Amino acid sequence: MTKARKKIRVRVKKRPLRIDIATLFPDMCETVLNESIVGRARRAGKIELHCHQIRDYSNDKHRRVDDTPYGGGMGMVMQAEPIYRCFLGVTDGFARKPHVIYMSPKGTVLTQKKAVELSKMNNLFIICGHYEGVDQRVIDKIVDEEISIGDYVLTGGELPALVLTDAVARMCGGVLSSEECFQEESHFSGLLEYPHYTRPEIWEGEHVPSVLLTGHHRNIAAFRHEEAVKITKERRPDLYKLFTESINMNDK
Ligand code: SAM
Repeated sequence: MTKARKKIRVRVKKRPLRIDIATLFPDMCETVLNESIVGRARRAGKIELHCHQIRDYSNDKHRRVDDTPYGGGMGMVMQAEPIYRCFLGVTDGFARKPHVIYMSPKGTVLTQKKAVELSKMNNLFIICGHYEGVDQRVIDKIVDEEISIGDYVLTGGELPALVLTDAVARMCGGVLSSEECFQEESHFSGLLEYPHYTRPEIWEGEHVPSVLLTGHHRNIAAFRHEEAVKITKERRPDLYKLFTESINMNDK
């Protein structure tokens, strides 16, 4: 009789996502990234975050990293070389080139879908611009994609990089207490989220919707879904249209 072979399942644990941020203001980034849920996840090793001072990679004795634009015009432009040297210095010894993102108002606008996609990667390297922006040649050489956080212009890429890091970090395993935390949230399923209520039951004469007090899980879920659909239809007809189209597709 042949011996039944014991199946050994080897579970390869993905190491936590590592994000490197290249910036002129690493302290500003560190302050934010050490706080709250992301800070806790960082300390617990659920995500690895590093902030790098681009000036440390300048060859200039005054640590200058910017110069006037060729062709004239207002403002200064961040030079290619310090950013490139920062990228090479940080990624020296990496097995693979990280996915490089330049935060830019000219980029594709960030969505929840993009945050989920980036959370599945191993390494992200985010470049924060300043002044008029960054010499195009370093973008062409190392950047994989440009991401914007909205159709407005900020003074620097730090706040956009922090927004992106936060959105990506909370999609990484173990950062939030459970996946349910984000599965019903706005934008995850294509709908805006239903409204929330907490104690007291009556506040300023306003009552909590009675179904939420029944403990009837199916009715509560149905109520919340209806509210989510209603609020999406009212506030974001563009999302509502996509949602109804996806339902029709699934029905076919
Ligand atoms: N001259 C650039 C333009 O018109 O597209 C704007 C430069 S902005 C003053 C300086 C830096 O802030 C940019 O290089 C970029 O890194 C960052 N930034 C500003 N607004 C942003 C946005 N909406 N999304 C992402 N990054 C942004």
